[in-house]
Amino acid sequence: MYHIGIDLGGTNIVAGILRESDIAPLLSFRSCSSDDSQPFAFCGSCLLYKESIPTLPSRSAEEIMADAASLARTVAHSAGVDFRDVTSIGFVSPGTVNPVSGVVEFAGNVPFNNFDAKLHLRHNTGIDKITVDNDANAAAYAEAVVGAGCGVRDFLMITIGTGIGGAFVSAGDVQRGFNFAGGEFGHTVIVAGGEKCTCGRLGCVEAYCSINALIRMTLDEMARADATGEHTLLSDIAAKTSGVNGKTAFDAMRRGDKVAESIVSRYIYYLSTALTNYINIFQPEILAVGGGISKEGEYLLSPLRRIIYSEMFNRRQRPNKYTKIVTASLGGDAGVIGAALLAAKEWSNKK
Ligand SMILES: [Zn+2]
Repeated sequence: MYHIGIDLGGTNIVAGILRESDIAPLLSFRSCSSDDSQPFAFCGSCLLYKESIPTLPSRSAEEIMADAASLARTVAHSAGVDFRDVTSIGFVSPGTVNPVSGVVEFAGNVPFNNFDAKLHLRHNTGIDKITVDNDANAAAYAEAVVGAGCGVRDFLMITIGTGIGGAFVSAGDVQRGFNFAGGEFGHTVIVAGGEKCTCGRLGCVEAYCSINALIRMTLDEMARADATGEHTLLSDIAAKTSGVNGKTAFDAMRRGDKVAESIVSRYIYYLSTALTNYINIFQPEILAVGGGISKEGEYLLSPLRRIIYSEMFNRRQRPNKYTKIVTASLGGDAGVIGAALLAAKEWSNKK
């Protein structure tokens, strides 16, 4: 039997397929730690096949869902799997999702407003066993089960992109709160009365630590350096990549640029403040940073660890009791793998 995951994003819809016998033992979180000789090597092989198509988000939710359903059939076919052998489908989207009703209440840059994803996916695929969830929850669950958090009880993942997503997974379950709206790590405040966030609040983590925030800081510093005549490589680097992106400041810093160095260290200070707060609340054994910025690797993680380990409340404990801070390991596949795993977890033992 097989489980399909569908990850709806503002740009692409990705679908992928997993074989139940490959992943069933991993769905109880303990089983992974008993076989942790090579927990990461397994991940690449658990996704049998995946494919993506453009979302074209100006279309209606019904049209997008019909495409997602036919993509599910395509991945089964391309993996050599009879669609009748597909037990369940997991569907994840950005925004506020009710996993019990299967309704996407609000999804931001895709037109899913109070849209019954479960009902439509059932109708379009003929498959009854549908799981619907938030994409950040799915990515964190995948990393917890087969990725960077494999084998630990308490795992926290934060995904840094245009926004900030995250989830805390404990004992194999995503912690969502009574109304499923929990885990909004990006919308906790680190600068009271600070920059306006997309959620309307002032000073959120998302307003200081998202890629959009890093781009804003880079542009502000370029304008300031321009006005004061301070030398910086930022404009030259930005011109080669047709504009400032999340790498611009890091690239300039690696070339010894002082202005860039100050941007990166300020950015990392904001991020360390947020992550220290999360560690003080949850004490995860592993905290993984995902999203495009995690490609900066130790340029990001080393200074982060230095600040966090000197500020966190339990800093006087032995270092082997410190939260490990790592990059996520599944990359862009985390959402689609997590969607299929959440469905497998919900349905693999149910008739
Ligand atoms: Zn916010």
